[in-house]
Amino acid sequence: MAIATVNPATGEQLRSFDALTDEELDLALQRSVDAFDDYRATSFEYRSALLHRAAEILDDEADELGRIATTEMGKTLSAAVAEVHKCAKGCRWFADHAREMLADEPWPIEGARVYTRYEPLGPVLAVMPWNFPYWQVFRFAAPALMAGNVGLLKHASNVPQAARAIEDVLRRAGFPEGVFQTLLIPSSKVDSVIDDDRVRAATLTGSEPAGRQVGATAGRNVKTSVLELGGSDVFIVMPSTDLEDTVSHAVTSRLLNNGQSCINAKRFVVHTDVADEFTRLMVERMETVRVGDPTDSGTDLGPLSSADAVSTLDKQVRDTVAAGGRLLTGGEPLGGRGHYYPPTVLTDIPQGSPAHREEFFGPVALLWRANDVDEAIRIANDSPFGLGGSAWTRDPGEQQRFVTEVETGMMYINRYTESTPEVPFGGAKNSGYGRELARFGPHSFVNAKTVWIA
Ligand code: NAP
Repeated sequence: MAIATVNPATGEQLRSFDALTDEELDLALQRSVDAFDDYRATSFEYRSALLHRAAEILDDEADELGRIATTEMGKTLSAAVAEVHKCAKGCRWFADHAREMLADEPWPIEGARVYTRYEPLGPVLAVMPWNFPYWQVFRFAAPALMAGNVGLLKHASNVPQAARAIEDVLRRAGFPEGVFQTLLIPSSKVDSVIDDDRVRAATLTGSEPAGRQVGATAGRNVKTSVLELGGSDVFIVMPSTDLEDTVSHAVTSRLLNNGQSCINAKRFVVHTDVADEFTRLMVERMETVRVGDPTDSGTDLGPLSSADAVSTLDKQVRDTVAAGGRLLTGGEPLGGRGHYYPPTVLTDIPQGSPAHREEFFGPVALLWRANDVDEAIRIANDSPFGLGGSAWTRDPGEQQRFVTEVETGMMYINRYTESTPEVPFGGAKNSGYGRELARFGPHSFVNAKTVWIA
């Protein structure tokens, strides 16, 4: 895949970049390990001040940075600008909290001073996706840098300008040379970077196949890894919920980020008593969504990230319909300039069809009916993924059953899944392992060293 900016709203290639040569990559890895020698010894106050400065730059330049994201991957400009401000919030939160999370932890042993100290690992490779081109990176970088690690970013090939902008923001914030570097390399080079002794850990946010590859390579090298992979989040609707309000959250969650978020609600499992009304309202709402130019403030849904993304989604929908699924609205790429796909609703999902087993990365809602809580939980768990999920019910007994029995890394009740710095984030099953954010963020890439002083 070429390292290039192709505007998804027009299909036009605007810029392309040469990948690093092997020599340039080697120099970057050496710069990283050299930078770590000094950076690991810096104080939390120093790192915190730099992250606060990065937050100021992000807030000040949110419009320009947002425009880069919209141009490269098609999210609406308002969403892109909001994403940059969220990164600023994340930087401030870890700048203010990482120190206490990484403080020495004493253990009560009589006659000795025993504690755990948390030491940085060194250069960490972050392989990142294009869908939240800033947030995915900062949610790794802010806690990792606070812990004293240094970062190497291999960003998705379609967001090279965002990737360079992140390095630039951190450099201007004052992080010393080599502490955070963007490596413009193809994914075929990732294994060799993880194999390199100078790199001490890896994290990947992306698809399941990419995660399997990176996890296997890290494992072969006995290096720590964190995998944040795909999801097909369930959204369970029970009769006690306010239906109008719930449908509106359902549509918002499904269409967030042009339908291309790992934690979009994707599978809607609705109690039979309210299924007809829920379906009617959902189709009605999906049909009023304004699809168009992502830079236009009136647009709700921009294009998908690439021509490939449209053809993958189109094939998944067609194959599901061919297997017996029923289209209630949408279902045809919009054609013309740009990579547009309309809000789509599919029901009567056949077992074994793509809608049953695969992640749909675009604005397609998949509807199931359930006769009771047991059946809702069975359908929810009948997926290879287990990232997030939500259930909408006022009944405390039902809430508790969904919390304990749905196999996900995150379960939200009467709220759709979100990612925010204060709350841990991550998945179960094929959605990955490890956690980001909250206290898990700074602890992801540290050596928890036991110290016993007799
Ligand atoms: P992707 O194709 O897996 O790409 C993600 C990153 O991995 C890119 O930098 C890509 O580089 C690289 N990559 C791809 N194949 C690789 C391989 N075999 N070895 C090493 N690196 C490889 O995923 P995507 O299509 O960009 O992103 C969408 C996916 O990410 C969805 O499944 C979504 O659910 C998931 N996601 C998960 C989370 C989470 O937190 N759990 C968050 C956001 C997105 P190139 O671009 O150069 O191929």
